Amino acid sequence: MCDALYDLAVEIKTNLAQIEARIARAAERSGRARRDIRLIGVSKRQPLARLEAAWAAGLRAFGENYAQELGAKAGHPPLARAEWHFIGHLQRNKVKLVLPYATWIHGLDCVALAEVIERRATKPISCLMEVNIAGEPNKHGVAPDDVTQLVEALQGCSHVQLKGLMCMPPPVDTPETNRPHFHRLATLAKTLGLAELSMGMSDDFEMAIEEGATMVRIGTAIFGDR
Ligand SMILES: *Cc1c(COP(=O)(O)O)cnc(C)c1O
Repeated sequence: MCDALYDLAVEIKTNLAQIEARIARAAERSGRARRDIRLIGVSKRQPLARLEAAWAAGLRAFGENYAQELGAKAGHPPLARAEWHFIGHLQRNKVKLVLPYATWIHGLDCVALAEVIERRATKPISCLMEVNIAGEPNKHGVAPDDVTQLVEALQGCSHVQLKGLMCMPPPVDTPETNRPHFHRLATLAKTLGLAELSMGMSDDFEMAIEEGATMVRIGTAIFGDR
């Protein structure tokens, strides 16, 4: 192995070990089990070598937010054996590109998108509804007040399996600012009887875990800057 690849392998392995330890501590602090929290490595705009290093270091779930990029990476052995999450805004005309690879779709935000997934999928697919939890203008996601209505609209689906909620609060200087948003998403999910909560990124995943996250989406803290 050449030096650069060796350095990369060490760097990513070290990053992953640190993230693992922080997840375990956050889980312990909040009286939760580590196995109840899924680590998704967000590999968007990262070169394949970094994903392969993460796979070699034991990472088994990856997240991408561009349909074409997902296809290019997920088709590549050994990454084809990973669990792939589509975490971005999904356009209806891209659904067919995502379905062969993704086992989770995190950005469900309207009935029209759900209808396309329902029609195109050949087997059940786990979905999370994206909630615009901070009520930001021009941001994707369902308004908190409209979530119940959309959940009901999805109940007849056989392929679209709504498993939980997802959010991406605004970037802030101190992560603590976003704690109420995580708390509110968790409350909403509980009210609706939904088990999965996809929330928390590199800067705030520990707080998200404390508030009940079952999936954290971590990019730069594992793979480095994009
Ligand atoms: C990029 C991205 C992440 C990861 O962000 P980091 O700050 O690099 O950890 C998580 N979720 C979504 C939806 C993203 O687009």
